[in-house]
Amino acid sequence: MSGWHHRHIIDLATFSRENYAAVLELAHRFRSLPMTGARKLPALQGRLVATLFFEPSTRTRSSFELAAKRLSADVQSFSPSSSALSKGESVLDTARTYVAMGADVLVVRHRSTGVPQQLSEDLEQAGERTVILNGGDGLHSHPSQGLLDLYTLARYFDPAHPLPESLQGKRIVIVGDILHSRVARSNLWALTACGAEVVLCGPPSLLPDAFAAFVDAPPPGQATDPVPNRGRIVIERSLERALPGADAVMTLRLQKERMGQQLLTDLERYYRDFGLNHQRLRLCERSVPVLHPGPVNRGIEMAGELLDDKSICLVEDQVRNGVPIRMALLYLMASAETPDMTPAAMA
Ligand code: ASP
Repeated sequence: MSGWHHRHIIDLATFSRENYAAVLELAHRFRSLPMTGARKLPALQGRLVATLFFEPSTRTRSSFELAAKRLSADVQSFSPSSSALSKGESVLDTARTYVAMGADVLVVRHRSTGVPQQLSEDLEQAGERTVILNGGDGLHSHPSQGLLDLYTLARYFDPAHPLPESLQGKRIVIVGDILHSRVARSNLWALTACGAEVVLCGPPSLLPDAFAAFVDAPPPGQATDPVPNRGRIVIERSLERALPGADAVMTLRLQKERMGQQLLTDLERYYRDFGLNHQRLRLCERSVPVLHPGPVNRGIEMAGELLDDKSICLVEDQVRNGVPIRMALLYLMASAETPDMTPAAMA
């Protein structure tokens, strides 16, 4: 796949526009294939994909496993509570066990930032061919979620050609606990790369001012940004100022498990100030879609009636789009390892 140079996928900071286009194009092809019954694509036949989730997950893990199965890979999943982790085995040794069993891809989720990166470095040093796909680490990065959100928005704006250009000039509002959100960070890289303006909205305790400069410097470890003209990031402290002119709104869960201290004293007040509902959305000048990566706390991030309103809320669409996006990532990683693997192999 031209321009595809990623071996491991740890975050989206190093993705070029061409990389986003490659993932979206492929995902769109996968999404339009009939996937009912026994029909599977042979692309990853004989490959082993292991999902190592050291932190809970409903959507991401099952979506990766389904994606791998649809590409005919063997799938092995690991659960921390019933594994030797409870006997004191380290994360690294756990990962090495799956490598020794022949895993081609390890999808890794961990509560600590940096674990997938560390594992990828360890595998490189050991000369292993296994690749790491980050399934979410601490508050750092959740690349497959950022990509499925991008695809969901691109499909909304341009159903026939859901490509990065569909986001050019759009105003996307992200509201809530930005500080603890790896989803927000991955979306910031992806949306600005595609030319969207991102408006961040939340209280100072959950949205430090420094986020306005999040994409200003080249990504960590890079001399230059692979994306020449990114969209800008704006901080608005009130929804009343953030929502007018919005093209889409994404709201995020309050990540209580990552809050070291009490950053919010009153959830009712949070909902009053930052919660989404039908009435609030009237502040937008047109009908706009609402996204949430899940899991949703009804009545805190958004009203239950809004979550259930399929004409506005794209949460189920996000889940559905997660499978083809993850198929695309697994496919691209496998084809980078086997250069003669062409898209024709999918047919
Ligand atoms: N499921 C997403 C994540 O793992 C969002 C969340 O947990 O709030 O980051």
